[in-house]
Amino acid sequence: MFIPKRILFQKNTLNYEIGKNIYNFFKDNENIEIVELNNNRVKDKIPGDGIYDFYREGKNTLVVGVHSGIKFQSCKPSAHYQLPLFSGCIGQCEYCYLNTNLGDKPYMKVNVNVDAILEQAQKYIDERLPEITIFEGSATSDPIPTEPYTHSLAQAIKFFSNSSNGRFRFVSKFTDVDSLLDIKHNGNTEIRFTLNTNKIIKDFESRTPSMEKRIDAAIKVIKAGYPMGLLIAPVFLYEGWKDDYRNLLLHLHNKLPEDIAYPITFEVISHRYTTRAKNIILEAFPQTTLPMIDEDRTFKYGQFGYGKYVYGKEQIREMKNFFEMEINDIFRNKEIKYII
Ligand code: SF4
Repeated sequence: MFIPKRILFQKNTLNYEIGKNIYNFFKDNENIEIVELNNNRVKDKIPGDGIYDFYREGKNTLVVGVHSGIKFQSCKPSAHYQLPLFSGCIGQCEYCYLNTNLGDKPYMKVNVNVDAILEQAQKYIDERLPEITIFEGSATSDPIPTEPYTHSLAQAIKFFSNSSNGRFRFVSKFTDVDSLLDIKHNGNTEIRFTLNTNKIIKDFESRTPSMEKRIDAAIKVIKAGYPMGLLIAPVFLYEGWKDDYRNLLLHLHNKLPEDIAYPITFEVISHRYTTRAKNIILEAFPQTTLPMIDEDRTFKYGQFGYGKYVYGKEQIREMKNFFEMEINDIFRNKEIKYII
């Protein structure tokens, strides 16, 4: 659970139930600075000049806000739309795509106008009838660490459980799932977990739970009957990677219950970076040991007009073969979505 160092309530957010819940949950904690803003300017209230300090202070800040505007961003290919309940994340993964895309907003932001957001989701669902419309809850955030006191995911899960044509999905590295387990979901929400080896977690995923704890949370979610998927990412090809990733898969398999309601889905993504991301990472984490030597990689033009440095063809082939063989060998009720 995220215990912030400071909470910034944007204008009018204390009039909403979630705003009140957050306030009541933390109001007696003397270690937390609570600020009620009469505008929406949060940056002035977060100390730190330059990316390095601002990033660290931002990661300890919770902003309570209102999602403005009614349009949702599209979210291809994983869903039709983003569900804008949150943005930002408390984790400090050095390679995180949010460093590049939300670099000036490193803080976790919770939007309190969930009713209005879900009403808008319903409009999108109606527009696409009779098709199914999928909403992604983690396009720009990891939404779980604030759930124990916001209950926003719970509200969304309940909403989609009654929806004939709307579906919800989100992905997390965090483990605060207990309050989601007894909710009626009707299989309309898919919860995915991002896994990695403990070496990678220790080296690059600061402030996130261990591999074992993430697997325990995934097992709880499976036992609660949710569709559950695993994102193994980013895969790094370091010395001994095969042993470590095999152990991860075996550990998961050993914990799985006999009967699972839906096949476990696997998505496996190798590490890649852009020059822009690399420059930001080097500023936010000057001591990083992330493997980002351009000469060791292959440059590949991406679909969004900028290029990425990826592992070489042979290495990717070896990685694909490895995961395909191991997943097929170890798991029965599963679906490999892609390995890239
Ligand atoms: Fe980024 Fe995910 Fe790590 Fe959060 S947990 S910092 S969203 S990679």
